[in-house]
Amino acid sequence: MKIDFNRPFATGKEFEYIRSAISTAHLSGNGQFTKKCQVWLEQQMRSRKALLTHSCTAALEMAAILADIKPGDEVIMPSFTFVSTANAFVLRGGVPVFVDIRPDTLNLDESKVEAAVTPKTRAIAPVHYAGVGCDMDAIMAVARRHDLIVVEDAAQCILSNYKNRPLGSIGHLGALSFHETKNIISGEGGALLVNDERFMQRAEIIWEKGTNRSQFFRGQVDKYTWVDIGSSFLPSEILAAFLWAQMEDVASITEQRLAIWNRYHAKFAEAEKQGLFRRPVIPADCTNNAHMYYLLARDHAMQMRILQGLKAKGIQAVFHYIPLHSAPAGRKYGRAHGSMQATDRTSETLVRLPMWVGLEDRKVDEIAASVIEISRQ
Ligand SMILES: *Cc1c(COP(=O)(O)O)cnc(C)c1O
Repeated sequence: MKIDFNRPFATGKEFEYIRSAISTAHLSGNGQFTKKCQVWLEQQMRSRKALLTHSCTAALEMAAILADIKPGDEVIMPSFTFVSTANAFVLRGGVPVFVDIRPDTLNLDESKVEAAVTPKTRAIAPVHYAGVGCDMDAIMAVARRHDLIVVEDAAQCILSNYKNRPLGSIGHLGALSFHETKNIISGEGGALLVNDERFMQRAEIIWEKGTNRSQFFRGQVDKYTWVDIGSSFLPSEILAAFLWAQMEDVASITEQRLAIWNRYHAKFAEAEKQGLFRRPVIPADCTNNAHMYYLLARDHAMQMRILQGLKAKGIQAVFHYIPLHSAPAGRKYGRAHGSMQATDRTSETLVRLPMWVGLEDRKVDEIAASVIEISRQ
């Protein structure tokens, strides 16, 4: 029996909404479905402004422009993240400064951020791994003391909170992903959340290719023109229509993912007590959106044994990430600040298990039994 690592989920309403988009004869960006999605995000995320993008990567690129990153400016971020967190700033000449993660949540270690601040530091880019929040109070306090802009990489965070605040809405800017591997999807897709008023107008201009087109359609200017740098960051209405179907169902999607997450978690409780591996940690002030289920193996050899053992049984499991500080481009464009011990250890021991809506209980049980059996050998 083959078990996929991920399977994109469709709610069934996607075709209807795409058909409706086609019938309105507006298929470029910023049409009725884009507006529906953006209003939903603004309400759900309690954000001043949401702009749909064609990826989280694009939203992070917009954030780097808004943060006014200039060549040589430093941005503090974890090394244990996806490449886009760093690339977005490097594209503007910025220098990623990698700080180690906490061994419990695998998020940026807030106690090590301030020591990495230099006169060149402009921004902090915390990543909420597996949809579980960083210590944002501590990170925002460092940002205030040094006048830094906080860009949350909230790619994995839809419907997840830190101290009752939606992740992505706490920093000055936040970036979400709707890539097919995330909780709600449009194949490729993302959104920029603008939480600080001072960035609202410029965000819209950068989004629409550096023009004041949105102001023109609101009647605020009598013709529209090139006013700033920008790019085509808008997704087509076809994608927004698809995404709208997913947004309508986000509560049920999250519930179904949580059921799978909780089933894994219960199955592994005893094995964790016996020291076979460690389960995810959700701090008391954070919620869990069941973006991911992972285990931390005892050591690297055991990580490889679990991955290979599952593969032999037809179960796809994967690791995460090659730390950016040790990747070729990370060494070229960024630098590590201090020890990367927790980052390196996590990369060498983490195993991500299959997690998708439709994964049956008996398959979860089979995966869990296989992992435990391999870990005992
Ligand atoms: C998925 C992901 C991204 C990239 O999202 P895209 O929408 O594919 O560009 C960035 N950062 C993190 C932490 C992610 O998990």
